[in-house]
Amino acid sequence: MGLATFKGGIHPYEGKELSENKPVQVLEPKGELVYPMSQHIGAPAKPLVAVGDHVLAGQKIGEAGGFISANVIASVSGTVKKIEPRRMANGAMVPSIIVENDGEYKGIEGLGEDRDPSGLSKQEIRDIVKEAGIVGLGGAGFPTHVKLTPKDENAIEYILVNGAECEPYLTSDYRMMIEEPEKIVGGLKVILQLFDNAKGVIGIENNKPEAIAKLTEMVKDEPRITVCPLKTKYPQGGERSLIYAITGRKVNSSMLPADAGCIVDNIDTVIAIYMAVCKRTPLMRKIITVTGDAVTDPRNFNVKLGTNYQELIEAAGGFKTEPEKILSGGPMMGQALFDLDIPVSKTSSALTCFTKDQVAAMEPTPCIRCGKCVSVCPSKIIPVMMMEAALHNDCEKFEKLNGMECMECGSCTYVCPAKRPLTQAFKDMRRTVAANRRKKG
Ligand code: SF4
Ligand code: SF4
Repeated sequence: MGLATFKGGIHPYEGKELSENKPVQVLEPKGELVYPMSQHIGAPAKPLVAVGDHVLAGQKIGEAGGFISANVIASVSGTVKKIEPRRMANGAMVPSIIVENDGEYKGIEGLGEDRDPSGLSKQEIRDIVKEAGIVGLGGAGFPTHVKLTPKDENAIEYILVNGAECEPYLTSDYRMMIEEPEKIVGGLKVILQLFDNAKGVIGIENNKPEAIAKLTEMVKDEPRITVCPLKTKYPQGGERSLIYAITGRKVNSSMLPADAGCIVDNIDTVIAIYMAVCKRTPLMRKIITVTGDAVTDPRNFNVKLGTNYQELIEAAGGFKTEPEKILSGGPMMGQALFDLDIPVSKTSSALTCFTKDQVAAMEPTPCIRCGKCVSVCPSKIIPVMMMEAALHNDCEKFEKLNGMECMECGSCTYVCPAKRPLTQAFKDMRRTVAANRRKKG
């Protein structure tokens, strides 16, 4: 039997060799820490501190502003210097708490202490995850306590851990799978405590044999957990692609994974759950890949939330060539940055820095009607026609073409010989259509 996968997709240049063999390095911040109150999907958090207050590492400094929202936790000890809008990677100015690091890393009482999860009730586990400010760390930013509270918990049959890491250049999940596999299995076991009818499956692309071997060995005596090797193909780690590859179940844009009996969490999210529940450590850090041909020493960092992006570049030896384009994230899903004065947030995953030569190869030209975009689309829609609708701002036509089923995976843009900015156009159209739907109620 072949490896688990989905239909469509592409095989982009992986670029993982730049950083995959370098162990994760802990990076302590040098400058002030910036904590935006909106690092997640849902209502912004509300500041719980005022200018002049002293805070401790692990202290809740922003309170979730509703059920679909997330707490914000201080990652250092120090003094609140300002509360003011600061720019995030997506360009938005977001109210943020700025903390001057005292360099002592003094933590709240009990921080880092062991806790046995076996005696905890389901509600206690959900409360701990909520208090810890955990959201989908793969980039989605959806509050994890909400995801772990589906309408019918008995209908959940699969907890899928997304270890595909199909985005080119990114290697942070890979490093965590080989460096800290016990935390992944520990976190998955905690999640399984919430869902009596579910089994856990860790899906890993087969370009990571060491990770597959390590986790397979680790779960050999776990009756509810297996490892599923996946075909290496982009976007294998897209939520819908992963669900289809492992379970054969289809999810569309009007469904949640829970409607198909699945909950999907990324590697770092599962580790964050383990840390919160078993080590009394709320979400205070991210594993970030700093990579690309413009970077002197590409590598992965374990970095405190709120640290400035500029410090990450410096820690990677700075630029060996003036970068032409810097992305927050990888080349397929990343967001172009115009400034490095941006804090590491819960949804940061990477800094990918391209040289002038690499960017020159991305300039768009007119469509030549080759149909390549159609053949790779995992959502089985027609990017070339959707682009026509997008160019005319024709929302009705875009919807008729099932444009809302687009996963914004970037595969069509990648294969397009004319380098048309298809995915960006679809992102904008999807946002417009969604806003129109909300207006109509
Ligand atoms: S149309 Fe959307 S889902 Fe299809 S390949 Fe393009 S970005 Fe991916
Ligand atoms: S891949 Fe690009 S050039 Fe080919 S049909 Fe699609 S949009 Fe046109």
